[in-house]
Amino acid sequence: MTEMFKNLIAGEWASAGNASRNINPSNTGDVVGEYAQGSVDDLNNAVAAAKAAFPAWSRTTPQERYEILKKASDEILARKEELGRLLSREEGKTLAEGIGEAGRAGQIFAFFAGECLRLAGEILPSVRPGIGVEITREPVGIIGMITPWNFPIAIPAWKMAPALAYGNCVVIKPADLVPGSAWALVDIIQRAGLPKGVLNLVMGRGSVVGQALLNHKDVHAISFTGSVATGRKVAEACIASSPMKKIQLEMGGKNPLVVLDDADLKVAVEAAVNGAFFSTGQRCTASSRLIVQAGIHDRFVEAATERLKGLVVDDALKAGTHIGPVVDQSQLDQNLKYIAIAKDEGAKLAWGGDLLQRETPGFYMQPALFTETTNAMRISREEVFGPVANVIRVKDYEEALSLANDTEFGLAAGICTTSLKHATHFKRNSEAGMVMVNLPTAGVDYHVPFGGRKGSSYGSREQGAYAKEFYTTVKTAYTLA
Ligand code: NAD
Repeated sequence: MTEMFKNLIAGEWASAGNASRNINPSNTGDVVGEYAQGSVDDLNNAVAAAKAAFPAWSRTTPQERYEILKKASDEILARKEELGRLLSREEGKTLAEGIGEAGRAGQIFAFFAGECLRLAGEILPSVRPGIGVEITREPVGIIGMITPWNFPIAIPAWKMAPALAYGNCVVIKPADLVPGSAWALVDIIQRAGLPKGVLNLVMGRGSVVGQALLNHKDVHAISFTGSVATGRKVAEACIASSPMKKIQLEMGGKNPLVVLDDADLKVAVEAAVNGAFFSTGQRCTASSRLIVQAGIHDRFVEAATERLKGLVVDDALKAGTHIGPVVDQSQLDQNLKYIAIAKDEGAKLAWGGDLLQRETPGFYMQPALFTETTNAMRISREEVFGPVANVIRVKDYEEALSLANDTEFGLAAGICTTSLKHATHFKRNSEAGMVMVNLPTAGVDYHVPFGGRKGSSYGSREQGAYAKEFYTTVKTAYTLA
C-alpha cells in the first residue's frame, strides 16, 4: 500500500482532505508516496500555530537554537544516502547528485547552527553628547517559504536553517511536484527538538496554499524560489497585502559560459557539459548559452559532442547513469517545444534532442546541443530548464562580454580562459550575481552569498552570513546615559 505523508501543523501530523501522488520520473509506475494537498484552512491553522509559537521561540538562547540545528544536521548527514535516494527517486537527478544534495542540506544546518552563536550588533557613540547608540538584529517574525522542485532538499534547507537560527517561525510550502525530500527534512528538524508550531509544513498547490500564504496578514516575509512568472505574482501579492511583506525572490537564469580561444579545451568542455547538462539541465544556474570564440569554436563543438555521446541517460538510481530523466511530462513537452522553436529559427542541432526508451517508462531525452545560433533567438533569450544548450560564435572577448550581458537575467556567468587580463575584466564587468572562471556556472559553496541580479533575483542574498539580511530586522536604540 502507498504510504501517506501528512502536513505538519502546530507540531502534529495533520491529514488533509486531498492528496497527490508523487511519481518517480525514471519509472512512472513507481509511486514514491501520497502527499497531503493542504487547503486554505490548513494554511491558516499553520500560520496561527507559528504566531502562537513566536514569542517564546524568538526569546530562546542562541545555545538552545544551536543544539536543535546541530542535531538536525547530524541526522541529515548520517542519513544522506537514504535521503539522497529518495530525492533521486522523486526528482530524477542521479543518485550521486541526490546524495550530494542531501549532504549539502546537512552542511547548511551545521553552518547555521554556528551562525546562532555569531549574531552580533554594534555600539556607536551618538553625534549628540551623552547618548549611546546600539544597533541590534531581531527576528522578522513568521516567514513563509515557497520552493521549487529542482533542489527539493537544498533549497528548503537554505531557507529554513537561517530562519530558525535567527529566531523566526516558519510556514513552508514545498513544490507540489516533488514534496518528499522537504517532508523528510521537516520531520528531522521537528524531531531535533523544535517547540510545537515553530516549523509548519503545508504541502499543496501553489494557487491554493501558496496564494493563501502570500495573502495572510500575519505572515511578515516571504522567501520564494521559482520561475519569474510566479515570482512576479509573489511580489505583487506581498506589496498589495497590508502590512506589506518583506520579500526575497530567486528566479530563473539564461546563464552564459564564455569560451575564449586561449581556453584549455578540456577544462572548457568539462565546464560546459557539466554546467549545461548535469542534473538534466534543471538548474537555475545551468550554462545554457555557450558563447565561443571563432578560433576554438569548431574544436569545442567537436569535443563537446564527443563528450555528450559518451554520457549515459538512464534511470536516476542506476549505477553508471550520468543524466537522469526530465522531471515530468510537462517539462519534457517544454524542452521539445524549444527544440522545435530553435530548429524553426535556423539553429543547427549538432547532437541529441531525441526521446529515449529505457527499461522502465520515464521522461528520458538525449541532451541537445545547438550550433549556428544568435543571441537574438528565443533559445538564447528564454529559460528552457532542461538539457538543452546552444553555442553562439563570437569574434573576440569584447563581443563575448557584450552578448553575455545582453540578457534580462543575471544569475550566474562563466568564462574559460588562460588570460588573467580577460578573467579579471570579466569578473568585474559581468552583470551576474555569481561569476565563475574555468568552472561551470552551476555548483556553489554554502557559506557564501547566493543570488543574482536583473530579472533573476529580487531582494537580499540567500546563504552564508548574508542570509541574516533577510531573516533579521535591524533595530537602532538611543540611550541618554
Ligand atoms: P514555479 O514558479 O512553477 O513554482 C515555484 C513554487 O511556487 C512552487 O512551490 C509552486 O507551487 C509555487 N506557486 C505557483 N503558483 C503560485 C502562486 N500563485 N502563489 C504562490 N505560490 C505559487 O517554479 P518551478 O517550476 O517549481 O521551478 C523552476 C523555476 O525555479 C525555474 O525558473 C528555475 O530557474 C527557478 N529556480 C531558481 C533558483 C534560484 O535560486 N534562482 C533555484 C532553483 C530554481
